[in-house]
Amino acid sequence: MILARNTSNPFTPVMTASALFALISFVWSLSGFLSPTTSSFGEYTSSEIFQEVGGHVLFGLLVGAPTFNLSLALVCGASSILIDLDHALSALGFQVLARSAHSAIFALVAGLIVAYMTSPSQNRPILSVTIVGGVLSHLSYDTFAGYGVFPILAPFSYSLYSFPAWTWLGLELSAMTLVLVTTFKVRRLPLLKIRGPKST
Ligand SMILES: [Zn+2]
Repeated sequence: MILARNTSNPFTPVMTASALFALISFVWSLSGFLSPTTSSFGEYTSSEIFQEVGGHVLFGLLVGAPTFNLSLALVCGASSILIDLDHALSALGFQVLARSAHSAIFALVAGLIVAYMTSPSQNRPILSVTIVGGVLSHLSYDTFAGYGVFPILAPFSYSLYSFPAWTWLGLELSAMTLVLVTTFKVRRLPLLKIRGPKST
């Protein structure tokens, strides 16, 4: 088990990491009140909601697959959809910038917090990168679906950056590559440790 030890239900760590990610995403969305502009996005119309949710989860699972670990793949799929909790305040009618978690800064901060709070130290790098990959896969599907406008530097800047439709493939492939490279790098660590320090 990558996420945690000594748990009777193998999916408890997945749910813990996913719930924490969802909480961070919602709390982060409060920073949308700092934005000088407000916005809302219409991707969750009733006719498209299943396509939207399914697309995000599928893109997330694809990015999580190169971990070769079911728990991590599920966390990746979950984070890819749960990031949209940053729409909640806007959907509730508050005058706020929606999508403030659609940000590179958010990806890094959420990845670090979830990994440090839910995972033993040797597994934190791959869990952090899996969550960053989940966020990238989300941006990939949004771009693919025609909603590729993100405050990518929030909360440092709330300017909205428009991603051309073709960049979805680059976002998804770079996320998969990042996860794959980290998976192999992490697996090499024990070998490096066994070798030990050089004697002089
Ligand atoms: Zn989104």
